[in-house]
Amino acid sequence: RIAYVNGRYIRHAEAGVSIDDRAFLFSDGIYEVIEVFQGALIDERGHLDRLARSAGALRLTPPLSEAALKFVMRELVARNRVRHGHVYLQITRGAARREHVFPSAKTPTTLVAFAQAHDPDAGEAKARKGIAVISVPDIRWKRPDIKTVSLLPNVLAKQQAREAGAYEAWLVDADGFVTEGASSNAWIVDKQGALITHPADSAILSGITRARILEIAKAKGLALVERAFTVAQAHDAAEAFISGATTLVMPVVKLDGRPIGAGAPGPVALGLRAAFHEFAVKSG
Ligand code: PLP
Repeated sequence: RIAYVNGRYIRHAEAGVSIDDRAFLFSDGIYEVIEVFQGALIDERGHLDRLARSAGALRLTPPLSEAALKFVMRELVARNRVRHGHVYLQITRGAARREHVFPSAKTPTTLVAFAQAHDPDAGEAKARKGIAVISVPDIRWKRPDIKTVSLLPNVLAKQQAREAGAYEAWLVDADGFVTEGASSNAWIVDKQGALITHPADSAILSGITRARILEIAKAKGLALVERAFTVAQAHDAAEAFISGATTLVMPVVKLDGRPIGAGAPGPVALGLRAAFHEFAVKSG
């Protein structure tokens, strides 16, 4: 496997950054994950726009132009012969003497990128069965809308889910509303068939897949409501699912050990997953 680190393509196993890197010391960095479907980067425009927004929020200057970033991502897909998988991209405030305050503006930012292949059949098999989720308190900082590598609460929530036999954790705010998943956006379909998902405000990461699903659902003429829902409302829903660049649309069949709807992947979720596939095929 070949990775990209600060201007060089290098064997993944030998790739590394300084122990002084601020992402290592302070999680002072941002990232993106872009799905590769049949060799094409899905929703690249949306991901690059969000990367620019995250960079702005942290006052980070990416070391490469957008055109160069696009080139690097394509090189990684090609050199690693990834047909299905994802590209991971991270930009940090660089390596400097350990002090909280920003280093001098001359300190170069760090750019790391790599590609990872995955088996699309495994995702399909999982979607046919559906996944279980658990609800856990959302203990993150107040800016989860910025895609930073500061993911410890997400890691702990995901691990708790795994240990409970679930795939994802739904994060619940102090008022009892589900904000999103540890690494996905959260959706329910109510008994009238309306799609409900948390508004893209500062309480969630505005998913690129989420935005694409909203477009697809609109074109399909589905009713859409961007509002927060509670765990009780999710229990009462006809269907539920999660969305993310690598999971795409993944039906949720169980919440905190209780089945949702019929306890099987629902027609709306499966229909959206199929429609997303069509969109991805056309992007190639
Ligand atoms: N919410 C969180 C916390 C995430 O980490 C992710 C990323 O996978 C998402 C939502 C989904 O975002 P996207 O669809 O852009 O992958």
